[in-house]
Amino acid sequence: MNSFIDVFEQYSWDQVRRRLDQVTLQDVERSLCKQQRSLDDFINLISPAASVKLETMAKLAQQLTRKRFGKTIQLYAPLYLSNECQNICTYCGFSLDNSIKRKTLSDTELMIEATVLKSMGVNHVLLVSGEANKTVGVSYFLNAIKLLRPHFANISIEVQPLSEEEYCLLHDAGVNAVLVYQETYHQEVYKEYHPKGKKSNFNFRLDTPDRVGRAGIHKIGLGVLLGLEDWRVDSFFNALHIDYLQKQYWKSRFSVSFPRLRPAEGIIEPNFIMSDKDLLQLICAYRIWNEDLEISISTRENETFRDHIVSLGATAMSAASKTNPGGYAVDKESLEQFETSDDRSMEEIKAVIRNAGYDPVMKDWDPVYSRTKSTYDRTGNE
Ligand code: SF4
Repeated sequence: MNSFIDVFEQYSWDQVRRRLDQVTLQDVERSLCKQQRSLDDFINLISPAASVKLETMAKLAQQLTRKRFGKTIQLYAPLYLSNECQNICTYCGFSLDNSIKRKTLSDTELMIEATVLKSMGVNHVLLVSGEANKTVGVSYFLNAIKLLRPHFANISIEVQPLSEEEYCLLHDAGVNAVLVYQETYHQEVYKEYHPKGKKSNFNFRLDTPDRVGRAGIHKIGLGVLLGLEDWRVDSFFNALHIDYLQKQYWKSRFSVSFPRLRPAEGIIEPNFIMSDKDLLQLICAYRIWNEDLEISISTRENETFRDHIVSLGATAMSAASKTNPGGYAVDKESLEQFETSDDRSMEEIKAVIRNAGYDPVMKDWDPVYSRTKSTYDRTGNE
């Protein structure tokens, strides 16, 4: 069975680090002039040497995004189902060793939260939970999706890694996208950030997008937690992962997110500070390398950064997000996973997008496009 692990094992963190430091300005200029770009070009574009070319990169990223996606930004909002978690992650407010009040939404509470999102015009919803298989496992998700499916055009999930069979069940229930972040590809230090729980199994997590792809999920979202380790090396491995997946599961779409470590109760300080300029370089590099990749920007980022990124490569943004279960109506004071930086309303974000000359899109998917197992088997045959 194919797995990204086989590809990953051919690379070493230190070699990639050295390669990044060897990039010259001429290498960067050569990559910028090409029509088709490889992972070598991606390395050139995220290198320290490329930082002086940021203006050129931003213009190119803008052109390529407009050519492929038009002047549109897809809007979505997260719906936190639960803050229960069986893992210790040193950077997260939901960590098992953090003594907070735990909450999992009941059916009634779920629908109250959904009603608030619908009143804000949200049609694409991202369901998020901690990793607590016993209380918030597949049967909980299937029930939540059944309740929400009639009300939302598109449902994405960001929950614990599951088995291929479980992803098949979620696909058939109407899940359109699965987001799973490796957090860091630095295998030697991964265990220090994830000392306890199922998440401490590096390879099981690394193999997760393969299981999602084999289950035929329409869209797969990847990312690393920026701030844990050297963002350039981690981003190379994330791009390597996307490159592999796109070839392997070519019927799926792919997105990348850029979560920067944000303050939350009881968590560590960032190990590596990533500036706004660094983040812009990274986003432009992804776009120039990969014209089809969807680029998603969350409310972790501040208002100024988000206002500028609308026209520089983003294709999707969350808005008016609450990162705690019940945060929209049921239990506004429950503990949030992280502090958001942009607390503007959905209407305010739409106005920002329109002022930039772009169209905010609340719905670009209809459940009728979601083929289930009964109409379309996973080998692609009708
Ligand atoms: S990052 Fe995820 S798995 Fe880790 S503590 Fe937070 S919710 Fe749990």
